[in-house]
Amino acid sequence: MKFGGTSVADAERIKRAARRIVKARDQGHHVVAVLSARGKTTDELIASAEEVSSTPDPREMDMLLSTGERISCALCAMAINDLGHRAISLTGSQAGIVTDTSHTRARILDVRADRIRQALEKDEIVLVAGFQGVSTARDVTTLGRGGSDTTAVALAAAIGAEVCEIYTDVAGVFSADPRIVPDARKLPIVSFEEMLEMSASGAGVLQLRSVEYARTHAVRIHCRSSFTEEPGTYVVGEEETMERPLITAVTHSTDEARITLLGVPDHPGIAGRIFTALADANVNVDMIIQNEPVSEGAQADMSFTVPRGDVRTAREALDPVVAEVGIARVAEDPSMGKVSVVGAGMKSHPGVAAKVFATLGREGINIEMISTSPIKISCVVQGDQVTTAVKALHQAFELGADEVRAEHPFEAAR
Ligand code: ADP
Ligand code: ASP
Ligand code: MG
Repeated sequence: MKFGGTSVADAERIKRAARRIVKARDQGHHVVAVLSARGKTTDELIASAEEVSSTPDPREMDMLLSTGERISCALCAMAINDLGHRAISLTGSQAGIVTDTSHTRARILDVRADRIRQALEKDEIVLVAGFQGVSTARDVTTLGRGGSDTTAVALAAAIGAEVCEIYTDVAGVFSADPRIVPDARKLPIVSFEEMLEMSASGAGVLQLRSVEYARTHAVRIHCRSSFTEEPGTYVVGEEETMERPLITAVTHSTDEARITLLGVPDHPGIAGRIFTALADANVNVDMIIQNEPVSEGAQADMSFTVPRGDVRTAREALDPVVAEVGIARVAEDPSMGKVSVVGAGMKSHPGVAAKVFATLGREGINIEMISTSPIKISCVVQGDQVTTAVKALHQAFELGADEVRAEHPFEAAR
């Protein structure tokens, strides 16, 4: 059971999570619970780091950020003990979560869960601080924003849990972010394939790594509300999903920045140089477009998007390459957004892209970049147009809870 930040935000909610955990134990299950930092704690910790340093040392950042989750776990253990059950809280390191050494965005390499198993054998409820581990160099690491989801899935895999329940502030995974689209529909099941695309394109309800991990290790995820009892969304293998609607969800992100390289020499190997520099600096490049020069010997322009927080790192990584290969100019647009439609049904049905573009066109939204996968179409637009774009696409594809949906794929395509 994993409880997100909102679900442990205050004393009452910690007690509520404690009761929920105890109830599961009373029903005969052994429980390992992963907790996030309370409310906005992680944001506040980041802000306090920025108050003392403009470029906080990543190792120290992890020492700092990992404390948020420890607080939640210790408090919840106390609450559970008061309910007459024995609980023990563990840091990520104590729980045996071993990661690589990339601070603030570490990847889990191994889970040595013997301490958890021993505690479960002693009939203890185990509370693990999410979002953190210990590196192969024995430093504390964190797993990137939203990383407690990945802690939960990794532990579920390591101990062979029946299910990994992700308790959050919405009732499951929806056809769009319910904060933006009030009539978004809760999806009873969603395939790994679709959930990967959704998480990758901004549906922060499950961290991308957690979905990747669950797919690789066949962990069953049940994403549900920590405030109600109703079932939420099961993330399951492709073969288990019955229907293949054309479009499952509209996702978005307002966290994109575009970097444009103007006057790039048009030689083989240049793109490799540019993107190797970015990769070495651990910058996650998303969309890339290149305008081929119109005439021989002319220069190309190249644009790509990166998460806004990576712009400075990207610029620093690019500086030497720009000088070396003779790129004329670098421009930045920090306020871009992205809207995507995801659906396994689009694999076999033409016309989805046309409908996306036409819908955005009707709203007067200019599409600045486009990328596709077999089950996703993403458009980069100006950041302030994202909300309008999401609402328009959600309506155009009739995804709302009140819509009478044509479930038959041929009907839906019409
Ligand atoms: P937690 O703190 O529990 O991990 P998060 O804030 O990380 O919670 O994730 C839950 C939030 O994800 C919701 O409040 C919702 O606004 C947002 N969200 C974005 N897209 C979706 C979606 N398609 N379905 C459900 N929630 C979504
Ligand atoms: N507390 C961390 C964050 O806010 C990790 C998590 O909540 O999953 O990103
Ligand atoms: Mg989260």
